[in-house]
Amino acid sequence: METRVIPVDREHLQKETVAEAAELLRAGELVAFPTETVYGLGGDALMPDAARKIYAAKGRPSDNPLIVHIADTGALPKLASEIPDAAWLLAERFWPGPMTMILKKKPIVPDATTGGLATVAIRMPSDPVAAMLIRESGVFIAAPSANASGRPSPTRAEHVYEDLNGRIPMILDGGSVPIGLESTIVDLTGETPMVLRPGYITIEQLREVLPDVQYDPAILKRVRDDTIVAKAPGMRYRHYAPKGELTIFEGDLAAVTARIQAEAEAKLAEGARVAVLASEETKDCYRGLTVRCVGDRDCEETVAAHLFETLREFDRMGAEYIFGECFPEDGVGQAVMNRLMKAAGYRIVRV
Ligand code: AMP
Ligand code: MG
Repeated sequence: METRVIPVDREHLQKETVAEAAELLRAGELVAFPTETVYGLGGDALMPDAARKIYAAKGRPSDNPLIVHIADTGALPKLASEIPDAAWLLAERFWPGPMTMILKKKPIVPDATTGGLATVAIRMPSDPVAAMLIRESGVFIAAPSANASGRPSPTRAEHVYEDLNGRIPMILDGGSVPIGLESTIVDLTGETPMVLRPGYITIEQLREVLPDVQYDPAILKRVRDDTIVAKAPGMRYRHYAPKGELTIFEGDLAAVTARIQAEAEAKLAEGARVAVLASEETKDCYRGLTVRCVGDRDCEETVAAHLFETLREFDRMGAEYIFGECFPEDGVGQAVMNRLMKAAGYRIVRV
């Protein structure tokens, strides 16, 4: 299959630009498209065959459910059988935007989309291309991140092409996405609202609306501990990982950079290909090493925006060992560290 890449100008978005993509979706085909979080791989959420094509194209385990994307809150009662007040409060405050909620599903949502679960994940994206595609197609779009399963999520159309060329008919290329990390997932099906995946919307922001929101314990773990099982199936898999072995170092920044320098030199001496994941503030501390700056510690949004593409760059340079710094876990830092720890398979060294 030939994969066509269609440029879209977000500033001057025309219905005609997404018309063909909308037609493909209505016909049960797949289209990759930009959202404000990462690129999504979309198919008709109510068509089991379209959902199956998504799993096949990504090589995604079929028990890892998809998020259903909607364009207005009127869609909620069509997809969810129970809508607690908390859901309306979250929708009013955070939609359209990078927040996904888990609700009990209606029978219309097929098991193929929810991985056999009785619940459904729903999000209303703010990206104009995504919103127009949902509206123009008239379809609820099931869309996981548009990467091959296990690889870092795509933040540019080139990343989608790298992973899915030949496997899907179309990619809408809207350039780099603004946020760069996947949505915050909030489960509203239990007694207490639970964050199943941290994202750009922080728990502090959620608590302004729902004061009793808690983290799923799996998010807070800092070691590989298989007795703590994540409630979001997708958070159980090895994910976001570069091909090389990534180790992250935490502690006093000066000690961390010194330790990374020493570890990297030792691997270099063995003849290995080594790279360092550093920040704006530390990138000049390293000598004689291949260093990639992921962003600015003072502005964690920049780290979020560049994390996945930096991990992909390490693959392109063939890095066998990657040594990375830790980042503060406040605000969006929680999501950054969650992805980084998973990418490292919880290989964390305390300095
Ligand atoms: P992705 O869109 O690739 O970021 O993947 C969607 C994420 O949402 C995965 O981590 C899924 O496990 C999670 N998810 C989707 N539906 C549900 C659900 N019904 N219950 C819990 N987690 C879900
Ligand atoms: Mg994903």
